[in-house]
Amino acid sequence: MDLKSARSLIAEAAAGFYRRGWVLGTSGNFSAVLEREPMRVCITSSGKHKGELSADDFLLVDERGSVLEGDGKPSAETQIHLALYEEIGNCGAVFHTHSVWGNLLSDRCSGEGAIVIEGQEMLKGLAGVKTHEHREEVPVIENSQDYDALSGQIREIVSARSDIHGIYLRRHGLYTWGDTIEDARRHIEIFESLFEVTARAR
Ligand SMILES: [Zn+2]
Repeated sequence: MDLKSARSLIAEAAAGFYRRGWVLGTSGNFSAVLEREPMRVCITSSGKHKGELSADDFLLVDERGSVLEGDGKPSAETQIHLALYEEIGNCGAVFHTHSVWGNLLSDRCSGEGAIVIEGQEMLKGLAGVKTHEHREEVPVIENSQDYDALSGQIREIVSARSDIHGIYLRRHGLYTWGDTIEDARRHIEIFESLFEVTARAR
């Protein structure tokens, strides 16, 4: 994956998410791995409007989040993206949205520790899921401004749970990932749709 293609695929996906109301007011962030050795990640810079991302709104960072290319500031959440890339060997893209339905559901489900979705045809859009008779758990963790602590918690969860496709920061937003940008984009669409169905049903 080259920087130019990554930027345009992410910008296209983000504009769609913005139109659906999942990344309003500069919320959310998106990244993709361009190279693993050495680690080179293309990520949206902090504070950019996700409905109209241009080439200048992306940064190239290394495995520590240091900026190698681009003028903006990396989001504080860059650490979470890097932790996911380190823990999940084939992870090629990490997408993060802030939707209304996901937010409400994360709050409602925080006592159980996860948003559980079962018996829905749309689950088949998640990588490796072959039937609607599937139980998907999206762990819900408390939100925090301490990104070291959050990244540590996320590392622990994904290293213990290879079956999950996403994690929710309570009253904040969804982190999901995929082997490619297309997979991560599909996972956002699948989860956000399932969150809305589940939350409305409740
Ligand atoms: Zn966020």
